[in-house]
Amino acid sequence: MSKENVWEMTLKRLDDTMTVLNLKPGIIKYLKEPRKIVEISVPVKMDNGDIDIFKGYRVQHNTNRGPAKGGIRYHQDVTLDEMKALAMLMTWKCSLVGIPFGGAKGGVVVNPTMLSERELENLTRRYIYELIPLIGPEKDIPAPDVGTNAKVMAWIMDTYSMAKGYVVPGAVTGKPIELGGSQGREEATSRGAVYTILAALKVLKIDSSSLTTVIQGFGNVGSNAAKILYDLGFKIIAVSDVTGAIRNDKGIDPYKLDEHIKKNKTITGFSRAEEMEPSELFKIKCDVLFPAALENQITEENAAYINAKILAEGANAPVTPQADPILKDKGIFLVPDILCNSGGVTVSYFEWVQGNLAYFWSKRKVNLQLRDIMEKAFHETYNFSVDKKLDMRKAAMALAVNKVACAMKLRGVYP
Ligand code: NAD
Repeated sequence: MSKENVWEMTLKRLDDTMTVLNLKPGIIKYLKEPRKIVEISVPVKMDNGDIDIFKGYRVQHNTNRGPAKGGIRYHQDVTLDEMKALAMLMTWKCSLVGIPFGGAKGGVVVNPTMLSERELENLTRRYIYELIPLIGPEKDIPAPDVGTNAKVMAWIMDTYSMAKGYVVPGAVTGKPIELGGSQGREEATSRGAVYTILAALKVLKIDSSSLTTVIQGFGNVGSNAAKILYDLGFKIIAVSDVTGAIRNDKGIDPYKLDEHIKKNKTITGFSRAEEMEPSELFKIKCDVLFPAALENQITEENAAYINAKILAEGANAPVTPQADPILKDKGIFLVPDILCNSGGVTVSYFEWVQGNLAYFWSKRKVNLQLRDIMEKAFHETYNFSVDKKLDMRKAAMALAVNKVACAMKLRGVYP
């Protein structure tokens, strides 16, 4: 399935959910449509003295439960359909974990590794400047996603604050700690995902000592999950990134791998593991498979080869709807994306609260509150799936969509 279809795939998942919920056609239509879509041409002064133009987007899917919230992606394959899909997933994610945000997503069609730091800063500042009327702590709060990081969030905070004439820490999350970022935000998506994996092991009655894990993607989400799982005693037996894949059945030390990638900019050439074909990664027998790269990685072509007990979706939409029934037939326990990776937006919420109040929490408090929210969301989803005889994806979607529909009905349609 091509990336362009990710929007259709997300709509299909919503349609599937409607078979569980008893909602009026008008409400379904309302939930399918993003509230606002902005397309921007971003001119950037390049280091060679010329100007280049990059296409940027921001999509706000829904704001019934609070301001829109969602990451900013810098990637050469960004499309408007992808932004619409990811914005909608953010709405469901915030709803499922019960934090008072709607969903948004933004992105720029750019390969950030091809830009100098100055070009990247110019691009970020101009893109955000164009969005200023639409974003802000009460309207829409950006965060990091693929290809963006704390440094980019610092430029966003500065650009927004300069335009307003005062410091606005609540305008963006995922900032450096020195600028009002939250303790624990950097690894929050991964930590949250690990809490859901541990909860899944518990309900499945699998002993969590010396379990094996395979991880696709070694960026923010993949590398931090690898480190947290490794520290808990899991064996990381294979890892891939966009440059290749490696395997060692005795286990890979993710800290050493991180050092290697920072130095060499590629996963290949790591002396403590063997290189392998990336397409073979999903075939490796493991206890926990953790896709943490991009959408549409597990499809009807490769789903049948998956040999994992638990598939925890660190990435957004890594499994296509066609692959879902294949995985279900194989008895693989799914922790769906809107549950599994919602730790990031949860700690972003904590960061927004802390920034707005100018009162900052300890890492311990952040992690404890994160654990409470993730465990509660997991058990609500699991119990609902058992009660209603639904798979975990449908259960998570039904709970999330129902809460948004309820908020929408209570508020009514203006005017
Ligand atoms: P990132 O840019 O830090 O890392 C992405 C990783 O994926 C990199 O290691 C890259 O090399 C790898 N990758 C890209 N294409 C690949 C391919 N074809 N095969 C194997 N590896 C590939 O991004 P991230 O922030 O870690 O995000 C990863 C996923 O998690 C995305 O789906 C994102 O939407 C989702 N997510 C991120 C956050 C967050 O807080 N960063 C929160 C929720 C969900």
